[in-house]
Amino acid sequence: MFTSKVYKSSPVIIQNILLSSRAFLRKKLRENIKCVQYTKELIANEYDAEALNQYQNKKYKKMLNNANDNTSYYKGFGTDISTYPYIDKVTLNNNKDKFLLSKKSGVVINGETSGTTGTPLSIPQNMESVVTEQAFINRMMKWAGFNSGDKRAWLRGDMIVPLEQNEKPFWRYSYSENMIMLSSFHMSQDHLQDYINAMVDFGVQIIQAYPSSIVTLAKYLDVNNQFYSGDLKSIVTSSESLSKEDKLLVEKRFKCTVFDWYGLFERVAAIASCEQGRYHILTDYSYIELLPAGKTEDGRDRAEIIGTNFNNSLYPLIRYKTGDHVILSNEKSCPCGRVFPIVESIEGRVGDYLIAENGQKVHILNHIPKGVNGLLGTQFLQKESMRIEVLVICNNNFIEDEKLKLINNVKERLGSKMDVTITVVDNFIRTKNGKMRQAICDF
Ligand SMILES: [Zn+2]
Repeated sequence: MFTSKVYKSSPVIIQNILLSSRAFLRKKLRENIKCVQYTKELIANEYDAEALNQYQNKKYKKMLNNANDNTSYYKGFGTDISTYPYIDKVTLNNNKDKFLLSKKSGVVINGETSGTTGTPLSIPQNMESVVTEQAFINRMMKWAGFNSGDKRAWLRGDMIVPLEQNEKPFWRYSYSENMIMLSSFHMSQDHLQDYINAMVDFGVQIIQAYPSSIVTLAKYLDVNNQFYSGDLKSIVTSSESLSKEDKLLVEKRFKCTVFDWYGLFERVAAIASCEQGRYHILTDYSYIELLPAGKTEDGRDRAEIIGTNFNNSLYPLIRYKTGDHVILSNEKSCPCGRVFPIVESIEGRVGDYLIAENGQKVHILNHIPKGVNGLLGTQFLQKESMRIEVLVICNNNFIEDEKLKLINNVKERLGSKMDVTITVVDNFIRTKNGKMRQAICDF
């Protein structure tokens, strides 16, 4: 909608009305009676291990039976999940129709993603899937303290104003949701104070943001030694990975808790952080298996997330390899009292990597900018082997010595013969839906 001619050519007040109407319709469609009931059911289970277990078993059996009876891919596999093969994005793309229910009924919504790793994927969903997803979002918002009518900011990769616009305001208002919607595409350094002022002036209580966007604002506050002056209940992030360091920085500078949500387009897994900062695997959302995937540098166990979806009976996916990793935790219970299992952290998407001098893929790039002054953000591009371009957003403290430090950090991780260049930019490269990848390796 944001890139449509009608929206772009409308005056601001009409754009506000268009946004509000769209939000109203979406809410009507998703948040029906079923959704309200479902949200209540989810909330009732989260402190009760027995109830949660029963609920999960019911969903699990229903899912396997449905896949067996109604899809050609899973015909005859039976009720023991350990006999099912692992599948992944490639399996899906090669067998698209075999996962689809032979007996379809009701509305079919064709979701599509360009995918952060560049492989497009399309998955049909039924209304049950859309409504249950909304119920899980509602529960997450409840964790974050949201009450109906609270003022929210939305900073999630939508092109709220045209890309070529270079004067504020870079935001619009959705009155039906009491929400200020800000563009993620216009966040150059000289606009950031305006973004912060706009949210404070609106009286925002909860911010829903892409990690890369809220981290940009937190870093801005940090280098200017400022704190967000409004009074926030919480910040809810999702759709990109958020490192521990960045999460702490956002919490410090915005003076509130960050509730981070990990989910994926395939809807086979969801992990959410609570007010105690622990990441909980939502075992009522899907069936998760954690496949050992080696150890971290400091000796902790790493595992790949394998998921089986519960809520899209139109397109059952069983033992789907997400390619995303978690670090396992020793903690068996959380002070928040919820009974979901805990993981230590979610590692950056495996898709975001660079190829080192020795040919190895290097996934964890968070450490590279550490200790370099004046850096507000980095993005790595690799278009050929042995050559890396680092895009940086920086301030005046990023002097020649700091550049050398950054280049050395890259070489330390990726090899001393690597050709490393630095390019200062105003904005990073984003995917069509506004997501920012930490590394783009494209050759
Ligand atoms: Zn917890």
